[in-house]
Amino acid sequence: MGLKVPYTHYQFQEKISWALLDPINCWPTKNKVNVSPLYVNTQSQAPAPLSMSTKGSKRKRFTANSLSLGGAFENRLDCTLGHFPTPLPEGKKKTTVCQLHRMANRVVNGSNDNPPGARTDVYICRGCDAALCVSCWSTFHQKTCFKKRDYVDILDN
Ligand SMILES: [Zn+2]
Ligand SMILES: [Zn+2]
Repeated sequence: MGLKVPYTHYQFQEKISWALLDPINCWPTKNKVNVSPLYVNTQSQAPAPLSMSTKGSKRKRFTANSLSLGGAFENRLDCTLGHFPTPLPEGKKKTTVCQLHRMANRVVNGSNDNPPGARTDVYICRGCDAALCVSCWSTFHQKTCFKKRDYVDILDN
């Protein structure tokens, strides 16, 4: 009878070679549990999705068009969206300007400068991706269209 050998010498060498060359598919099953999770983990690491905060510098501009009905900011009037004030990150507090204040200064004074008060209490609306000061918050989210008089009021606040 003799001892039953599972592999010939050649098959044994071949299996070792394959196991070294391709451990994921050819490593003996007894050890596979220990080997494969390492490979699965490294392969399944997807790049982290871009967070909303990286969009900050590419915020849409306030213009007569983007603020009109059907414009890019039309969602500002959609009260089913969450229009919650998100505080600015610490490093952005000095540089972020209320977009409606700037728009008002352009319309009323024809100036691209930042009007007084434009950097006071500015928050981000995530629903609109807009930077707004506290006194402009409700105006921006309620007015269906802005007239010159509305902009004068904003600068007077
Ligand atoms: Zn909003
Ligand atoms: Zn403002």
